[in-house]
Amino acid sequence: MNAVKNSILIVGGGIGGLAAALACASKGAKPRVIERAAVFSEVGAGIQMGPNVTRTLYALGLEKKLQEVVFAPQQLQARDTESGKFLGVLRLGQRSLENYGAPYFSVHRADLHQVLLQKLVSDGDVDLSLNCEIDLIRDDVDQVTVNGRGLPEGFFDSIDTEALVGADGLWSATRQYVVAKTSPRVTGLVAYRAMLSMQNLPEKLRTQDVTVWMGPRVHAVLYPVRQGESLNLVFVVKGQPPESLEAWDHQAHQKDLELAMGPVHSDLKEILAAVPEWRLWPLCDRPPVQGPFEMAKGRIALLGDAAHPMRPFLAQGAGMAIEDAAELATSWARTDLEVAKRWHLYANARWARNAKVQARSIRNGQIFHMQGPLRWGRDLALKLLGESLMDVPWLYAEP
Ligand SMILES: Cc1cc2nc3c(=O)[nH]c(=O)nc-3n(C[C@H](O)[C@H](O)[C@H](O)COP(=O)(O)OP(=O)(O)OC[C@H]3O[C@@H](n4cnc5c(N)ncnc54)[C@H](O)[C@@H]3O)c2cc1C
Repeated sequence: MNAVKNSILIVGGGIGGLAAALACASKGAKPRVIERAAVFSEVGAGIQMGPNVTRTLYALGLEKKLQEVVFAPQQLQARDTESGKFLGVLRLGQRSLENYGAPYFSVHRADLHQVLLQKLVSDGDVDLSLNCEIDLIRDDVDQVTVNGRGLPEGFFDSIDTEALVGADGLWSATRQYVVAKTSPRVTGLVAYRAMLSMQNLPEKLRTQDVTVWMGPRVHAVLYPVRQGESLNLVFVVKGQPPESLEAWDHQAHQKDLELAMGPVHSDLKEILAAVPEWRLWPLCDRPPVQGPFEMAKGRIALLGDAAHPMRPFLAQGAGMAIEDAAELATSWARTDLEVAKRWHLYANARWARNAKVQARSIRNGQIFHMQGPLRWGRDLALKLLGESLMDVPWLYAEP
């Protein structure tokens, strides 16, 4: 066996891959991250992080650095896209700390990615390689051999490693070594996203909250990032996906969005008028994970979108990747077990929760876009039950 003892090769340096490298290094592993892009970066959009996610990041020693870049929204409010009516409120802020022992944050993706990267660099326990792309993975009994292009010098285009983690996202190339090769599902939904300076909004529309706008033809989520200086906007509508599905980031036009969503309340119109530029994401997912066999095989484990890409309606895709990372490290620490057994332990611990979040994300999407009597029933339920309907204790609470 040529593999360095305790070596883990992580394919993909997104939020999931970097979190996995940090977590595994903290348990004595020697991770190497290979990223196909020329720089470690993230797209210019926000993500929300529930208390389940912030708790996990704090446990990785990131509390102080995170607090320098996040925003802590005070509440999540639901509004009707046409009438503008307030449908329900979930308190976040102090309530999240009291009920779940951890905060609810929103953050710019690039800022979260940088926090992870800087910790990796300053700890110095992980090798990071850019411009690397894998061609072939061979899972032998005693090691994994990876052939690829642009692999780090000295490895002659092949790397031997004790274990491999596929953290290479929705269009994962490593996934096929764990489960039969299939393409992600095209949902028929597209997400228009934008970021604007809070300063550019009329005073009455500057906000400290997450606002979820619900209508039959559109679902929009707006929240502050960059410590409240910018507003992140995502509008999901039915739409023709762009030809190149694998690219996340497409040019988009407000006219097309307006056509797809129909008439909206004047507050939303005013916000739209302040948007400088739109980008478009085609939304794809996979059916919920069916068992541990979809998350690990032999010495290869999958994590994040490579394993369980989901619709964004529960705002937990990156969150589940971060939880995966922590569990992967816990399993790696079981040095009394062979590598394949450790990864099996990981997959066993994670698959059902990921499947539940995937299923709930699909259901939330249906609820957000309800029409006719169903929409009326939803609004009434929100009015009567409000917070208890919008909260997600099974997801947010410490296990
Ligand atoms: C509209 C929208 C809103 C969302 N909002 C939220 C939210 O509020 N909260 C939340 O938690 N999640 C949210 N998500 C989900 C979240 O964006 C993803 O789940 C998360 O980014 C997945 O992280 P990942 O590291 O698994 O994959 P990725 O971020 O896709 O990273 C994969 C990395 O692997 C690299 N790579 C790919 N192939 C190779 C290869 N062959 N070799 C080497 N490197 C490779 C890529 O370049 C990339 O850097 C949202 C998603 C969408 C679409």
